[in-house]
Amino acid sequence: MAGKGRPTVDDKRDNQYRVRLNDEEDQMLAYCSKATGKPKSQIFRNALSEYYINVRLNELNSQSEFDAMELEGVSMKRVIECPYCGAPNAIDLADYSTDDCTTERQMGSETQHWFDCDNAECVTCGRAFRITGCITEYPRGAYDSEHIEIKETDIV
Ligand SMILES: [Zn+2]
Repeated sequence: MAGKGRPTVDDKRDNQYRVRLNDEEDQMLAYCSKATGKPKSQIFRNALSEYYINVRLNELNSQSEFDAMELEGVSMKRVIECPYCGAPNAIDLADYSTDDCTTERQMGSETQHWFDCDNAECVTCGRAFRITGCITEYPRGAYDSEHIEIKETDIV
């Protein structure tokens, strides 16, 4: 063998993907990038790494020869903006759980966590509002999607 091969660069990034985002997703990406000081591409890579870990754990859990590791459910803590003054309110929607709806899919169960918080009160302006909707978990321990509705209930 004449000479040695070129040293390999482990983290060479020559796989490229185009990802289409809607306006809301684009705003979320820009927000995370600005708030953390990380480039947008890094936000994607970090989210992928976290998702990958969940997929691997779910795979092991579904194979009986491995010891199952109990996965934490998805977090239902959210920052909800007040519909009157726009102030951020930290709320754990798990405290207002109404129903869990489960369907079986390729990698175990998909769970819709429904909630109804009808007595939320803004920490800043003190006015009342209602938060309803559901957060979907799939595979177990991984965030899938969410639908959250906020209604003004403070009738003056
Ligand atoms: Zn408010």
